[in-house]
Amino acid sequence: MLYDSKKERHQPLVLSVQHFCLQDGPGVRSVIFFKGCPLRCVWCHNPESWSMYPELAFKKHLCINCGYCMDICPEKAIKSPGHWDRERCRLCFTCVQNCPSGALEGLGLEQSVESILESLRPEYTYYKNSGGGVTFSGGEPTLFSGFAAELADRLRSEGVHLAAETCGLFNLDGIVPRDNSKILAKSRDSAREVWNFLSKLDLILFDIKIFDDVKHRQFCGTGNSRIKYNLETLAVLGHNHTGPPVWPRLPLIPDITNTTENLVEWGRFLRKINLPYLTLVPYHRLGESKREWIQIKKGLNIRDLNNGDLETAKAILKSEGITCYSPGEEEWTRLSEMG
Ligand code: SF4
Ligand code: SF4
Repeated sequence: MLYDSKKERHQPLVLSVQHFCLQDGPGVRSVIFFKGCPLRCVWCHNPESWSMYPELAFKKHLCINCGYCMDICPEKAIKSPGHWDRERCRLCFTCVQNCPSGALEGLGLEQSVESILESLRPEYTYYKNSGGGVTFSGGEPTLFSGFAAELADRLRSEGVHLAAETCGLFNLDGIVPRDNSKILAKSRDSAREVWNFLSKLDLILFDIKIFDDVKHRQFCGTGNSRIKYNLETLAVLGHNHTGPPVWPRLPLIPDITNTTENLVEWGRFLRKINLPYLTLVPYHRLGESKREWIQIKKGLNIRDLNNGDLETAKAILKSEGITCYSPGEEEWTRLSEMG
């Protein structure tokens, strides 16, 4: 189908649905990756999930220079392999379907709730046998709360355990009584939509990054006061059993998130809101080649993480009373500590 890259998009695009995932919540899980994220973290390993619009990706190492894409493009948008005119390109993905080597890829598919359910149902036995389920991820799934809630309802009615991975940047204004009455009705409505989705979940995996607001703005593109507020709010709701339990996760990015100051501040904050555990997610470089594929500017030159970084981070957090886990090795029974 033809996409209009400029149109206002309400139906989410799905980047992929991956099965047999072991690091995105308890047990064996399928993960739905939505396309669209409000943050722009410099180390992001999924930059193709930033835009909520479809994108054309070009993998130079796979291109055999046959020139077929240039001939077949109905808009004559491709000037040479890997170089196309974005104004002319209608994102029809004809070139993708006809590229013989897989060098071109179309990112972002409109999928209905029903078609996603169909792809998940064959996995239900694995979820059941392993205590797993489905994880909503992205991108940021709360950007598509209406759709996600509809899908969550269907999955719940079929007995599936549900989790979501979130960057924490969403609107929860007015959801808990500590909010004041100055909240605009429109803002309250959007918060209700987000909460309607989140409240259907069995687990929220909440990403935290940089504690300092100015540095967060510098490295992630936005301030973080709302993220902290949302984490605290969800922790309160989880503790009093009016919301799903929350599990924080922190990507360990050399010299950015693994500084002593950052880890101590997060450790103290997590203790204050009574979430004394987190997953440390080690940095890897996958995002760098993906940036090339979708032709966005190179990110920061970040050094590799070493074992010493990981051990030091664990020790700092431990000294603040926080137990650290590696992805896939979490003790999910600790969630019963909430409340
Ligand atoms: S059709 Fe594919 S392999 Fe051929 S030139 Fe275009 S991108 Fe390269
Ligand atoms: S997606 Fe490919 S074939 Fe379609 S208009 Fe864009 S460059 Fe041309």
